[in-house]
Amino acid sequence: MSRHQFDLLMCLKQPGTTVAKLCEKCDGKCPTCDSYNRPTRETRICDECSFGKLNGKCILCGGHGVSDAFYCFECCRLEKDRDGCPKIINLGSSRSDMFYEKKKQKRLEG
Ligand SMILES: [Zn+2]
Ligand SMILES: [Zn+2]
Ligand SMILES: [Zn+2]
Repeated sequence: MSRHQFDLLMCLKQPGTTVAKLCEKCDGKCPTCDSYNRPTRETRICDECSFGKLNGKCILCGGHGVSDAFYCFECCRLEKDRDGCPKIINLGSSRSDMFYEKKKQKRLEG
């Protein structure tokens, strides 16, 4: 099951020098397509997503980061690694109030 069907949004800002982290659970996943095949290129996130308490956190689920994230071979071939910072920004712990509000609304309706 892909997380993309849950309407998750990526940051896509200009990446800085910080290598993205993945937690134990997400370890080995390509940050853009969830593939475990042929990790190829180191994933970098933007300064904002590597700042403060976000530092060292899993970019996919916000868990405790234990390993570096890599784009898979296919995403490198399609140059998805150049799209920008792949951190998921509408996680539950997101700083973005807009997404938080959206989620709250959904909960009320559902
Ligand atoms: Zn970012
Ligand atoms: Zn994770
Ligand atoms: Zn990929």
